[in-house]
Amino acid sequence: MICPNCEYEYVEGKTTCPDCGEKLIPLEEFNDGLIKPEDWVTIYTCSQTYEADMLKANLEGADIKSLILVQQDTSFPTPGDLSVVKLKVKKTDQEEARSIVEDIINREDDNYEEDEDNDLV
Ligand SMILES: [Zn+2]
Repeated sequence: MICPNCEYEYVEGKTTCPDCGEKLIPLEEFNDGLIKPEDWVTIYTCSQTYEADMLKANLEGADIKSLILVQQDTSFPTPGDLSVVKLKVKKTDQEEARSIVEDIINREDDNYEEDEDNDLV
């Protein structure tokens, strides 16, 4: 497993980077050249993994490869879920991915008005 952010490799069993908190990815993915930090851009940030999972599934339906990175905020040790979930796509896919994500978010806004915490980055 390897951290796409630091490009450090970690032993099997770890799922997040001890250094920066990013979610580790399998080494094969990294070696395939799929994961190079400079090639990936964050197109969406939220605090719930299910939301990122839902968007990822939609992007996959459009043949866009995406990556979910979860960063725990450890500087504020309060109870509750303070993780930051980032949805990343390759730079070459970012325009299409953004429009898909915006479509989905706008569709959701019709149902939920209190969705203002979800910033498009
Ligand atoms: Zn890291």
